[in-house]
Amino acid sequence: MSDALLAINAGSSSIKFGLFTAGADIIPLARGKLEGIGTAPHLIVHDADGQVLTERRWEDGADMAHEAFFDAIFGWIEGHLAPNRLIGVGHRIVHGGASFADPVIATRAVIAELEALCPLAPLHQPHNLAAVRAAAGVRKHLPQILCFDTGFHRTQPAVATRFGIPHALEEEGVRRYGFHGISYAYIARRLAEIDPTMARGRVIAAHLGNGASLCAMADGRSLDTTMGFTALDGLVMGTRCGAIDPGVLLYLQQSKGMDADALTDLLYNRSGLLGVSGASSDMRNLLDSDAPLAKAAVELFVYRVAREAGALASSLGGLDGIVFTAGIGENAAPVRAAICRRLAWLGVALDDAANDVGAAVISTADSRVRVRVVPTNEERMIAIHVRDLLAATAKEAS
Ligand code: ADP
Repeated sequence: MSDALLAINAGSSSIKFGLFTAGADIIPLARGKLEGIGTAPHLIVHDADGQVLTERRWEDGADMAHEAFFDAIFGWIEGHLAPNRLIGVGHRIVHGGASFADPVIATRAVIAELEALCPLAPLHQPHNLAAVRAAAGVRKHLPQILCFDTGFHRTQPAVATRFGIPHALEEEGVRRYGFHGISYAYIARRLAEIDPTMARGRVIAAHLGNGASLCAMADGRSLDTTMGFTALDGLVMGTRCGAIDPGVLLYLQQSKGMDADALTDLLYNRSGLLGVSGASSDMRNLLDSDAPLAKAAVELFVYRVAREAGALASSLGGLDGIVFTAGIGENAAPVRAAICRRLAWLGVALDDAANDVGAAVISTADSRVRVRVVPTNEERMIAIHVRDLLAATAKEAS
C-alpha cells in the first residue's frame, strides 16, 4: 500500500467518501458511506471489489456532531493504512461563486467567504462546509482541499454566463455559474482516455441524477450548461423545478403571499418529478408506475432534456456526441431511449439492444452522433485534484 488521499462528498443526511492511493495512478482502496445523520447513523466501508471492510452503527447517534463521525472515519482509515498515512482530504463544494474556480486549500477566510454562498445552494453548500470544518477540526495537520462544482465551467464565454439584467448586478456576481463540474471534469478526462476522437468533438454530457444538468463541451471544455446562478435552473429534477418563468415567482409572492423560505422549499424540495407526479422523486418508482401523473413527470423530464440539448447543440454549432451519466443516465434505459428518439433530428440513431443492456456505446454504427454511457466518478476526480494541488504546493515550496 502507499500513502493515500480521501475524497469527501457530504450531503444533508449522508457523507460519501473514496480512499485512493496518492501516487500517479490514484488507485481506489476503499469507498464508504455514512448514512442516517440526524436519525440512525450507519457507516459502511467497502474495498474496491465490493467486500465489506468495516461497518458501524450508532444506537444513540441522532444528535451526534459531524466531528464524531469524522473522528471515526479517520480513525478507521489510519488503522487500515498504517504504516502509510493519509496525506490530504478533498471536499466537493457545490458553489465557488465569483472568487473560486480552481481547487484551494481551506482556510478560515476561504470558508467564511464560501459560507456567504449558502443561500445560492441551500441543499448542498451548508453540508459541504460543515464537513470541511468537522474534518479540519479533528485532524488539524491534514490539508483540506476544496474542489468546486462551478470550476469546470469557467471556460464559458461571457455570452453564455450573462443574464439579461442590469450590468451592475452582474458585477456583483449575479451570473450563470453552472454546476456538476466535478462530474463533467471526470467525464471529459475519461472520454479522452476511451474515445479521443469524440473527446475532441462537440459533446453534450448529460448528468442525470437527483440533480440533473447538461453541459456543452468542445474539446473537453465547457462552453455552456443548463444550470445557472443556482442549481435550480435548467432541467426538471428529482425535487427541483428547473427553468421557470420568473413571473411565476412574482405571482406566488404577490398573490399567494409566499416569502423567501416558502419559495425555497417549494422550488428546491417540492417541485420537479416529485411535484409533477405527486408521488415520488425517484425515477425508478415513476418508471414502474401506471399513474397518469407519474407518466407525465417522466414525459416532462425527457422533453426538457431534449429541448435543452437542442439549445446546447446550437451553442456548440452542431453535435458529435452525447454522454449519459449519473443515476438516471447510467441506469434508466427507457429514459435514454426516449431522449434519443427526440434527438433523431440532430442525427442520433439509437441501437436499442445496446441501450437495453447499458453498453458503453448505445448508438448505431452509422449514427451521425455517437452516444455513450460513461459512469461518473466524482470522488476519483476530487482525488486527482487533491494530488495535483499537493504536488504543485510541494513544488512551490522546494
Ligand atoms: P444524486 O444526484 O443524489 O447523486 P444519483 O446520481 O444517485 O443521484 O441518481 C439518483 C436517480 O437515479 C434517482 O432518480 C434514481 O431513481 C435513478 N436511478 C438509479 N438507478 C436506476 C435504475 N436502475 N433505473 C432508473 N432510474 C434509476
